Amino acid sequence: MDKEGIRDLRNYVGGCFVEHDGSEWMDVLEPATGERFARLPLSGSNDVDAAVEAAREAQPGWAALGKDSRADWLDRIADSLEVSFEEVAELESRDTGKPISLARAVDANRSVANFRFFAGLIREQEKETFEMEDATNYVVNRPVGVGALITPWNLPLYLLSWKVAPAIGMGNTVVCKPSELTPMTADLLMRVIDGVGLPAGVVNLVHGDGMGAGSPLVAHPGIDLVSFTGGTATGEKVAESAAPAFKKLSLELGGKNSSIVFADCDMEKTIAGVVRSGFLNQGQVCLCGSRILVEDSVYDEFERAFVEAVEQMRIGDPADDSTDLGALISKDHLQKVQGYVDIAIEEGGRILTGGTPCLPSGFEEGNWMAPTVIADLPPESRCSTEEIFGPVVTLHRFQSEEEAVGIANGTRYGLAGSVWTSDMEKGKRVSESMESGMVWVNTWLHRDLRVPFGGVKDSGVGREGGRWSLGFFSEAMNVCLKHD
Ligand code: NDP
Repeated sequence: MDKEGIRDLRNYVGGCFVEHDGSEWMDVLEPATGERFARLPLSGSNDVDAAVEAAREAQPGWAALGKDSRADWLDRIADSLEVSFEEVAELESRDTGKPISLARAVDANRSVANFRFFAGLIREQEKETFEMEDATNYVVNRPVGVGALITPWNLPLYLLSWKVAPAIGMGNTVVCKPSELTPMTADLLMRVIDGVGLPAGVVNLVHGDGMGAGSPLVAHPGIDLVSFTGGTATGEKVAESAAPAFKKLSLELGGKNSSIVFADCDMEKTIAGVVRSGFLNQGQVCLCGSRILVEDSVYDEFERAFVEAVEQMRIGDPADDSTDLGALISKDHLQKVQGYVDIAIEEGGRILTGGTPCLPSGFEEGNWMAPTVIADLPPESRCSTEEIFGPVVTLHRFQSEEEAVGIANGTRYGLAGSVWTSDMEKGKRVSESMESGMVWVNTWLHRDLRVPFGGVKDSGVGREGGRWSLGFFSEAMNVCLKHD
């Protein structure tokens, strides 16, 4: 830390914090204030080579430990991370601009839970066997080797821990590349891992941007598996680079998710649920429901009550416990989100609330945008079909169940959705007609860590979560024993 309180981050390679192999640094800015609070090394290919080499060296010994010992390590990491709970929440809130209450409830909480959950699941894992008349088959889940784990800025430690825990739990070693915009809690995780004394080289981390560090990491011949969460356009590049070497690949990509509101819903609960799904984390969650489809007979009532609820959200200091909405991640992202409001106006949209920057007093240099609701856009308009990834939602009317499903399926994405109705049969029928990896009925982001997580169409390839993560981070091998 220098005298201005600016921390210089370092890569974590082979169990040591190391200076990167170059002179380039990047400032880490607080989205709420625009102020610099750390510097990040812009690593390059040499740094990636060193990290992959350390991971390769450590892998056989780590795999040989056995699953129960590895699960014990996950629990030790969880225990130590839990001690740093408040530090995780504060760093995540400062680094991303999200409200501290959200950083506590979601980011800090889930990061600990991810390590505990996978420790338990790995311990409980039983060998599968299949009997034949004259033979017994069994399945061995072997580690894949060395994994590249690449994560975005919206849920930094939540998503990194979601990958690290099952990856190392199944006997792989890893090299992590967090988003250059939000490196602080990845650094904290490395300090935790170092503190508990995890064997050197099992988890390595290279800071840097996508081109300088992410791209050489994915392409590295010493990488056997890539788990990537990020935008669809980046996912295409990652897939292109990983495919020729047949690397195991999981892509969790963008989304443009619909919330379908039927006339028979519980209106009060639905409004609260749909506001939350539209604006949690300033709308910067891949699962956010940013297209809200409302049955015609209740549309006007819904529009009025929804806008009123949106206008009641408190926007301001992320460190304040009562804040509902914080800042957007960066100036560039704010510009992109605002650009979509201009597009909406050109496309004939009616701005019901928001649409403009809003700069809370004392935060004039930050990236702030009022929560925005737009009506009257055709469902096939750009604003209604492209991922905006900000506090902007569009409202649309529908007349029938079939029309609602048609609108919901009318995008290139297929990640998530929600259905709001008092008729469970209709809820199930509509959910199962949606081209989507996940659908919630009368709730949203109600997560059970045992269920599959992932998308269809341009929202990704593969599933993580529960046993799907264990499957992805291992190679299933069949051994067949012929009876005498
Ligand atoms: P990006 O795709 O821009 O970046 C994701 C990660 O990939 C970052 O660490 C980035 O580094 C890195 N990266 C960039 N270029 C390359 C490359 N050529 N090779 C390897 N790595 C690269 O996504 P954002 O960070 O902007 O995150 C937002 C996106 O993530 C949204 O589209 C959102 O929907 C999606 N997302 C999906 C989720 C899901 O589960 N489906 C969950 C959360 C988010 P750097 O930032 O340092 O350049």
